[in-house]
Amino acid sequence: MNERQLQEKIIQIGNDLIAQGLTEGTGGNISGRLPGADWIYVSPSGIPYAEIKPEDLVKIDLKGEIIGGTRKPSIEHNLHLKVFQNRPEVNGVIHTHSTYASAMATLHREIPPILDSMVASFGGPLRVAKYATMGSMELAENVNEILKTDNGALLANHGAIAVGTDLDQAMRRCHLIEKVSQIMLFASCAGTPVAISEENIKKALAFLRANYGQK
Ligand code: 13P
Ligand code: ZN
Repeated sequence: MNERQLQEKIIQIGNDLIAQGLTEGTGGNISGRLPGADWIYVSPSGIPYAEIKPEDLVKIDLKGEIIGGTRKPSIEHNLHLKVFQNRPEVNGVIHTHSTYASAMATLHREIPPILDSMVASFGGPLRVAKYATMGSMELAENVNEILKTDNGALLANHGAIAVGTDLDQAMRRCHLIEKVSQIMLFASCAGTPVAISEENIKKALAFLRANYGQK
């Protein structure tokens, strides 16, 4: 992938977020980097996804200096930047306002590892980042407390976020967060969902490492 293809990927993901119902309007934001690069591209603030052109994306170096583009970056650019500073293996970050994840985020209640499908991606619960004003450094810090180690989180009274080694993986994780949130809400109507034990998570992770996929 080259720089141009990364820009096009970010734009495509933005349109997919709308088409796949993971956000609406200008909610949410996206960032990506080429593996090993010391800069990222972030979506611009408040421009409808369908209108974003490659030149609207903002290039920011890992110290936080804007080095390309004329638009104002997403108000959450500090939040995105911190993820890339803390996680060298992460190359894609997507923040959504998806419905069920947002519903869970209003409850300030983490989602325990209730489904096998959560094990490979998250290896534990989906935690809730403490509330802070959108776009604030405090929110960036609260979310990154969790994303230092985790691949996804809920943002209290706001939405969700997922990271990946590339933007496609981050997107799959956004869908998984939404699905798990939906199942948690449905299951909670009928009783108390049972979490998979830590011991069983460890076993499942070891099994997946040895056996999953086409090796
Ligand atoms: P931006 O349009 O500035 O990215 O803001 C959207 C958002 O979701 C803020 O949390
Ligand atoms: Zn948001």
